[in-house]
Amino acid sequence: MMEPILSRNPATGATLKQIDQTPVAGIAALVETARYAQKSWAKVPIRERAKCLLNAREYILNNLDDIADLIHLENGKPKFEAIVNDIIPVLDLLSQYAKKAPKLMADKRIPMKLMLHRASYLQFWPKGVIAIISPWNYPFSIPFGEVAFALVAGNAVVFKPSEVTPQIGLKIKEIFDNSGLPKDLLQIVLGDGARGAALVASKIDKVFFTGSVLTGKRVMASAAENLTPVVLELGGKDPMIVLPDADLDYATSAALWGGFSNSGQACASVERILVHESIHDDFVSKLKEKLAALKHGQDLGVATYEKQKATYAEQLAELSSSNAQIVCGGHFSKDRTYLEPTIVTNPKNHTDRPLERTKIYNDETFGPVVAVTTYKTIEEAIEKANHSRYGLLASVIGRDAALAEQVARQIEAGTVVVNDVMYTHGLAETPWGGIKESGFGRVHSDLGFLEVVNVRHIHKAKWWAPLFKAFWWFPYTEHQMKMFRHFANVMFRRSWFDKARELPNLLTEFVEMLKKEKRL
Ligand code: NAD
Repeated sequence: MMEPILSRNPATGATLKQIDQTPVAGIAALVETARYAQKSWAKVPIRERAKCLLNAREYILNNLDDIADLIHLENGKPKFEAIVNDIIPVLDLLSQYAKKAPKLMADKRIPMKLMLHRASYLQFWPKGVIAIISPWNYPFSIPFGEVAFALVAGNAVVFKPSEVTPQIGLKIKEIFDNSGLPKDLLQIVLGDGARGAALVASKIDKVFFTGSVLTGKRVMASAAENLTPVVLELGGKDPMIVLPDADLDYATSAALWGGFSNSGQACASVERILVHESIHDDFVSKLKEKLAALKHGQDLGVATYEKQKATYAEQLAELSSSNAQIVCGGHFSKDRTYLEPTIVTNPKNHTDRPLERTKIYNDETFGPVVAVTTYKTIEEAIEKANHSRYGLLASVIGRDAALAEQVARQIEAGTVVVNDVMYTHGLAETPWGGIKESGFGRVHSDLGFLEVVNVRHIHKAKWWAPLFKAFWWFPYTEHQMKMFRHFANVMFRRSWFDKARELPNLLTEFVEMLKKEKRL
C-alpha cells in the first residue's frame, strides 16, 4: 500500500489533507496521454491558445483570496507575500505573454550576406511534452510561469509540484482546467522525489527542474540517458555588496527584505552581505534594529519544511566552534515552527574573518539568516562575491550609480541587481537563471520562451533564382578550386586594392569553370 503524502500547515504541524501519490508505474501512461492531446493542441492557432492564458488570469482574479489563503496555509508565508510575490507576478506574466507569444512564435527572417539568391528563416514549433518539476518555496509563481509558457507554445505539460505543497499544485491544475485547455493536455504527478525521477526517465521532450543542486545533478544524469534537454534552476548563496558610499538606511532596508522575505527561503535571498569595513558596524547595528521590529505572522512566515530546519541547525551549530559571532537570533521558537531571524558576522577586530570558513557563509542556508563580512577594496569585494560555487543572483548598493554598475558587470551571476534587491523573478520580461552550480537555461522573458520551442531553420531558393547546380557540388575541378581561392580573396581581403586585383582572376576562372562544366 502506497503511503499518501500529507499536505500540512507548517505553522501548526496539523495535517490539512492526505493526498494519494501518483503510482510510479502509471507515469509513462500520463506522459503518453499528454502527448496524444498535444497533437491537436499544436494545430490550434496560437492566438486561440493565448486566450487560455487570459482565461487563467481571470480565474485567478476571481479566486484571488482563496488562492492566497491556500498559499499562506500550506507554505506558511504571510498572505501579503502570497499575493505580492506569488500571485501578482503570475498575473503579469499571463498578461504579457498572451500578447507576446504569437509574435515570438512567428517566423523570423535571417538576412543573407553571401547567398543573395537564397532565403533563410526560423520556424518555431512546440517541443512536445514538457515535464515541470518544482519546489515548495514559491509553489505558485515558479511552476505557473513555466507551465504557461510551455502550454501557449503548443506543448503538453506533465507537472510535478513539490510533495511539501501538493494542494497548491492541484490549485494550479484547477486554474488551467478552467481556462479552456483541452482535456488531458496538462497532467499532474503528485508525490515524492521517486515520482519526479520516474517522470524524468520517461519519454518526455524537455525537463524544467527547479530545486536543489543535489537533485538537479540527479535529474541531469537521468535525462542524459535519453538525451532529454534540461533547464536547471538550482540553489544560490547570493551576495550583496554594500559600497562605502551606500545610504545605510536604504542598504539595510534592502538587506532586510532581500534576506528575510519568504523567511529567507528563496534561491535569490541575500545570504552573504559584503560591507565596506568603514561602515560595517553601523550597517550591522541598523540591520539588527530593523530586524527586531519585524513581526512574526505579519512580516515573517514560518519555516516551511522540516528538512530545512536541520540545515539551519547544522550551520548554526558549527558557529560555536568557529569564533564567528551571532549578532542576533540563532534559535528556534519553542514549538520549532520558526527560526529567529539571524545575523552572523566576524568577531570585532578579528582580521582573519573566521565566518568566511563556515558553512553558513559558503553553503546555501535557505532560511532567515544573513552572514555579514567586510572588505577593504572594491576588487576584494568583487573577488569575494565571485568566490562561490553558485552564481544565481547578486546585488550591489551604492550612491555612485556608475560605480555600482561597473561592479555589477564583474559579478559572476545570472542576474545582478543594482540599487535594488532580489525581486526580478517577479518580472515576466526579464530572464531568470544561473551559472555555475546554480544551473543553466533560462525561464521567463523571450529567452525563456525559446526554451519551450524547437527551432527549425528553413533555407530555400528565392522564387526568382534560376535552379542551377551549386559550384561546390561534384565533380571538383582545378578551375573550380582556383575560382574559390580568388573568391576568398575578393570577398575577405581587408584592402580594397587587393580585392580589386583579384577580381579579374576570379572572373577568368569562373568562365573557365563554366566552359569546362559545359554550362557556357
Ligand atoms: P528538492 O531538490 O528537494 O526538490 C525539488 C523537486 O524535485 C520536488 O518536487 C521533489 O519532489 C523533486 N525531486 C526530488 N528528487 C527527485 C529526483 N531524483 N528526480 C526528479 N525530481 C526529484 O528541492 P526543494 O527542497 O523542493 O527546493 C529547495 C531548493 O530549490 C533550494 O536549493 C533552492 O535554492 C532551489 N530553488 C531554486 C530556484 C531557482 O530559480 N534557481 C527557485 C526556487 C528554489
